[in-house]
Amino acid sequence: PEEPAELTQLAREKLRADFLSADLGITGANFLLADTGTVVIVENEGNARMTTQVPPVHVVIAGIEKILPRAADLLLFLQLLPRTGTGQILTSYLSFISGPGWGASPMINGAARSFHVVLLDNGRMAMRDDELLSEALYCIRCGGCMTVCPPYQVVGGHVYGGPTYHSGIGNAWEAGVRSLDTAADFNALCTTCSRCQDICPVKIDIPWINTVIRERIALQRFPQRGLIERLVYDRVLPVQEDGSVSLEKRLFSDPARVYAMSRQGVWSNLMRFRPARAVLSRFVGLSSARTLPLPNSETLAEWHRRRGGRVVKTRYQVQRLSNDRRGSTVFLFADCHTEHVDTDVGKAAISCLEKCGKGVVLVAGQCCGRGALSQGLLETASRQAKKLQELLAPAVKTGQAVVGIEPSCLSAVVDDHAKLLPGSDAAEVASGTFEVLEFLLAELSAVGAAMDGGETSAWTPVPDGRLSPLVLHGHCQQKTLGWLPAAVKLLGSIPGMEVQVTSAECCGMAGSFGYKGDYYPISEELGRRLMTELDELAGAANQARGVQMTCGYLACGTSCRAQIADIGGCEARHPVELIDQRLTKR
Ligand code: SF4
Repeated sequence: PEEPAELTQLAREKLRADFLSADLGITGANFLLADTGTVVIVENEGNARMTTQVPPVHVVIAGIEKILPRAADLLLFLQLLPRTGTGQILTSYLSFISGPGWGASPMINGAARSFHVVLLDNGRMAMRDDELLSEALYCIRCGGCMTVCPPYQVVGGHVYGGPTYHSGIGNAWEAGVRSLDTAADFNALCTTCSRCQDICPVKIDIPWINTVIRERIALQRFPQRGLIERLVYDRVLPVQEDGSVSLEKRLFSDPARVYAMSRQGVWSNLMRFRPARAVLSRFVGLSSARTLPLPNSETLAEWHRRRGGRVVKTRYQVQRLSNDRRGSTVFLFADCHTEHVDTDVGKAAISCLEKCGKGVVLVAGQCCGRGALSQGLLETASRQAKKLQELLAPAVKTGQAVVGIEPSCLSAVVDDHAKLLPGSDAAEVASGTFEVLEFLLAELSAVGAAMDGGETSAWTPVPDGRLSPLVLHGHCQQKTLGWLPAAVKLLGSIPGMEVQVTSAECCGMAGSFGYKGDYYPISEELGRRLMTELDELAGAANQARGVQMTCGYLACGTSCRAQIADIGGCEARHPVELIDQRLTKR
């Protein structure tokens, strides 16, 4: 049968007989209350309750991390678990078991009921002593991280997970209760998109845990560099790690260097020839269906300097320009992608900031470390982060705003740098760093300009009063770090503008993930799903208007735009480009 009602009836008929004839029932537990000795089971189907009630012997097998000190602590968790797991306020069945025969006769068929609790360590005490993995012990198994995990949505738990637990948090459990070797089987499926971090009710930093596990796996497997690596790789794409680091990891960990090589013609010439691409696919793991983005002939910094703008690359230069007490200077962090590839996005951002009366100082030439982080190269990422922090800290410490464009790079600055550089100024820098649309909205709102289409409107009027409908796809980190609402509000304040937002968690490109041959099929499938949603939203927008207009696609992430171009064959723009077209000078 395929209908839910028929399936339920079949299960009921088959399972009921098994329940009634069983000598022993085994359950897990969602929580164990230490002060009352109570086992708490949360479920929707009623099967667990039958297992505890019908057979004469009930055995509970539960991990020691399920123990709560007091019954009074339970209420909070009973709210967190179903809300994130199934979207319910309360589940259908909630069982409290404090001994044999609870709520039923202590005897069954003339025999006394019995009740046994097996507390399972199985690596958990060792996890508790591991500063990184101990965080996973807070997991209440709500399953929320699985629901939102993009690769898991495509491949499921048999591929993305071990026997213990699946998807993102499965990495920590696999590494903790089994081994790094078995965790390595699926660790690379974590794109560190951070959607799980957002939904987790106990706020476990799953992407960070998976990144560190990635590093541990590499250190365990490849502790020594080979000769070719030392003679060739280290000269072309150096890294800070002591052990062996593959060419693939090196390539994706240093976008600034790769773009610089491209500008010298190395990359573009290689990519032009099919055999060279085949070799790259073989040694670098690059999907033959992808081409790496090629840089523009002029960087954003060169353009800005050519038009008389200020560009800083050293701490001294930043300090010298950080003495603006009027609040009219903004330090715009040019991430590697904006600096080399998406220069038009950078130009639009500078233009918008200048229209808001800001003098823009471009901080260029220093990678944030996002690429190295994604490869689990924490030493390299730390070094890159330290250098960027040295540039940004003097500006923030003197009260200047730092603004960034690319969400993944910006998230490295405001979220990951403090973890990479404990005890540094990274948290203070994060507090003074803003996403560009968030910053523009605040600036325009401060003068009451963004919110209306009247006299004070910040926007150039549209001749017929109507713009093409727009569909915005939010970048993963843009959503996790709460920047998406500002983008929607800012775009929505443009008169005649209608913006719809996709519900897709991730475009599937996820930085380097979608470029790798091993993961291209997953990336492609996620990209197709996004394109389907984009097209449906565009069609619905046109239907609502009763006219056929070309719908514009918007995406803040460089990899989201690349994915839409590769899979959908159409262009997506950064919202700041569109805002620049409509924003008037203040
Ligand atoms: S890691 Fe967080 S979201 Fe995932 S199952 Fe555990 S508690 Fe739920």
